[in-house]
Amino acid sequence: MVEAFAVASGKGGTGKTTSTLALGMALAETHDVTVIDADTGMANVLFHAGLADVETTLHEVLAGDAAVEAAVYDRFGMRVVPCGTSLAGFERADPTRLREVVATLARETDVILLDSPAALDSRSAVLPIVLADRVIVVLQPTVPSLSDGLKVQEYALTYGTGIAGVVFNRVADDEDIEGVARKAGQYFEGETLASVPESDAVRAARRAGKPLLAHAPASTAAQRFREAASGLTVRDIASGDVADRFRSAVIPEES
Ligand code: ADP
Ligand code: MG
Repeated sequence: MVEAFAVASGKGGTGKTTSTLALGMALAETHDVTVIDADTGMANVLFHAGLADVETTLHEVLAGDAAVEAAVYDRFGMRVVPCGTSLAGFERADPTRLREVVATLARETDVILLDSPAALDSRSAVLPIVLADRVIVVLQPTVPSLSDGLKVQEYALTYGTGIAGVVFNRVADDEDIEGVARKAGQYFEGETLASVPESDAVRAARRAGKPLLAHAPASTAAQRFREAASGLTVRDIASGDVADRFRSAVIPEES
């Protein structure tokens, strides 16, 4: 079985990469998890997962220069496919090959998490949302962030992708998270999975090049991400069906 989730937000800096790896590690306690850095223009999974020095990444795979297997690294109980950060690598990468990459990885895992680009302004940027079964929307508890998140939801629903839920991240002590969550409940199809505080532990984990759940597993933020993961009931979709669906996914026209 396999289910693919895109972790998306419509804006940079909301904590998509942090959330992808935290949810991935939490889900890895009960599932085989594969994390793919599908943010191929602003990749940063590698910096969060201690993979900054690896030679082969998704860029080489998308350029047709390497097999998928060469870019898969076993880290923190997950299979992690990092992406490179060079402009040359990005330019050589053919985003449409992501379909085949996901189809291949779907055969050997239970959960695929696609760390997704912030903007939704190109084919390659919306592709993770198109390919995923469901989207996890990462929001800061502000009105502009909610409105960006609603655009993500609109894209998702247009392409037949469901909404798994909303993770509020970087929530300050004095924020009216109840009020914002209520609003989100009205507008978003999924439930609120968790509310993660603005936290020194998260920043320290990033500096250490480790996912939060490895660096500070006892922190409140880590605990909240575990709660979010336990609210995600991973569905049992036959991997052959998923692979076929990825291969035949219609890629949107360049806008
Ligand atoms: P994105 O992938 O959406 O661009 P990141 O996960 O890379 O966002 O996070 C952006 C920056 O914000 C990173 O430096 C990260 O450490 C920091 N950050 C993310 N979530 C939190 C949080 N809950 N508390 C403090 N810092 C955070
Ligand atoms: Mg990121």
